[in-house]
Amino acid sequence: MRAWAVVENEAPLQEIELPTPEPQGTEVLLETLYCGVCHSDIHIWEGRYDLGGGKVMRMKDRGITLPLAMGHEVVGRVVRLGPDAIGVKPGDIRIVFPWVGCGTCLACRSDEDNMCSTPRSLGVYRNGGYGTHVLALHPRHLVDPGAIDPALAATYACSGLTVYSAIRKVLPRPPDEPIVVVGAGGLGLQAIAILKALGHRAIVAVDISAEKRTAAEHAGASKTVDGAGSEVTKAIIAACGGLALAIIDLVNGTATARFAFAALGKGGKLVQVGLFGGEFPLSLPLMPMRALTLQGSYVGNPKELRELVRLAQSGPGPAIPITIMPQSQANAALMRLRDGRVVGRLVLKAEAA
Ligand SMILES: [Zn+2]
Ligand SMILES: [Zn+2]
Repeated sequence: MRAWAVVENEAPLQEIELPTPEPQGTEVLLETLYCGVCHSDIHIWEGRYDLGGGKVMRMKDRGITLPLAMGHEVVGRVVRLGPDAIGVKPGDIRIVFPWVGCGTCLACRSDEDNMCSTPRSLGVYRNGGYGTHVLALHPRHLVDPGAIDPALAATYACSGLTVYSAIRKVLPRPPDEPIVVVGAGGLGLQAIAILKALGHRAIVAVDISAEKRTAAEHAGASKTVDGAGSEVTKAIIAACGGLALAIIDLVNGTATARFAFAALGKGGKLVQVGLFGGEFPLSLPLMPMRALTLQGSYVGNPKELRELVRLAQSGPGPAIPITIMPQSQANAALMRLRDGRVVGRLVLKAEAA
């Protein structure tokens, strides 16, 4: 198989030849058709996360080895099955759930693979969709996209699933009670689209970019707030018509955490999703006095991916603007995302598509 791989951190991706995996046991080999380019690919490519206060988490300390074909938003076509893989056949087109773990612990056996403490995520620890082939570990990680556009369906494996799982953590709420979405990039637009598909009406989108705020309005945000400057908290409270009870922070940097936390009313919940990095001083008495909840949300589980796909199949599905680039231009796509020049989502199209 060919791959556009990270050979050295922060150096351009290189086209290399890797052995095509032969599926064993329950494994399924797929040919990549589409693969989304995710912001976390930039962190993997750089090889580190900023933990704040000068602390850095290095990818190689987490067991990530190079060369690596990144890419965890994959739709592929089944090519070959291991002897114990049942439920799919060659030619089937499937979304690949990438957030896989050890396969044997309680989390993995409960269809909550993303909570496994020994992750083997595709495109992170194992080769993903920046290669011509992807190895799924089990047929239950494969979801039939049906009639959904496969380029859009690919984005459900990470960005769609991530926001769906975060949204599930602030629901149920009455449809006209505001839900604040911080960040109107690819994740933010998908959050707005999914909230709308779930019947939610009051959505306040926050972003520092006027262009992204306009995109959020087109996607269905009822109000937008400029995330720059010192009065963001006030502006969020004004847009919500009072203190906010549900905020999803898709950026999750020091600035956004500060203004979002300060906008929370009694019983409010801030769900932290983004990996922008930094740290956040917390006034401890406010937690009990306002009965606040801070919750981290990490991608989602296979059950939630199946729910999201059903939601997309059942009506006007959550759609976001998609820009297609050839898989062979993976490096240019990654650089384009790093430079912030993407509205919606970038998706690589493989030759096999
Ligand atoms: Zn991702
Ligand atoms: Zn496990």
